[in-house]
Amino acid sequence: MIKFSGTVFDLDGVITETSNAHYEAWKELANELGFDLPNDVLDKIRGIPRMEALEIVLSYNDNGILLDESNKKNLAERKNEIYLDKIKNYSRRDLNDGVIELLNLLKKNNKKIALASSSKNAEFLLKALEIYEYFDAVVDPTSVKKGKPDPEIFIRACELIELEPNECIGIEDSQAGIESIKSAGMIPIGIGKHLKCEIKFDNILEFYQYLLEFQTHEDD
Ligand code: CA
Repeated sequence: MIKFSGTVFDLDGVITETSNAHYEAWKELANELGFDLPNDVLDKIRGIPRMEALEIVLSYNDNGILLDESNKKNLAERKNEIYLDKIKNYSRRDLNDGVIELLNLLKKNNKKIALASSSKNAEFLLKALEIYEYFDAVVDPTSVKKGKPDPEIFIRACELIELEPNECIGIEDSQAGIESIKSAGMIPIGIGKHLKCEIKFDNILEFYQYLLEFQTHEDD
């Protein structure tokens, strides 16, 4: 059984699913530029940094528009505008099953809670999802030099909640994130059956149920 004092969450794919909103925003951007995106782009751009996703999207541009780097920056910003407009209507309904229950259980047991997401919109999204107040710390991704699988963002999260990495679990749905947690010296919890991770669950609800059972036995 796992013992821990702090929990560091990834956001997308763990707490909520934004991949569709990202995809729809890219599609709208493409339409504004006069081309369309096939549905399978969704899988190619899932969890990819904005500028890299833009390159993938632009590879479908059959209009022959030539773009330099400053245009690309504007396009990425325009896409983010469309995306923010989509997620500002998110609410607790858009949380993955079991998230609120898990957050309440962690609070009840005095566990520290932090967020380690590379998304610049993470704080905005936590507020839209109405769970911002559960978090003791949210890592500012602009303060992090190296992205996952580098451990930097998870180490920073542990520092912010003033715990040693080996006192914390990290919850991730991507292999890069799991590697990041492992190299930080934390206990990785995988969400998704395809992950290479010792402790993993199909979804957050299952992890919540596992912890709940563990806690019940501890109380005995
Ligand atoms: Ca993720």
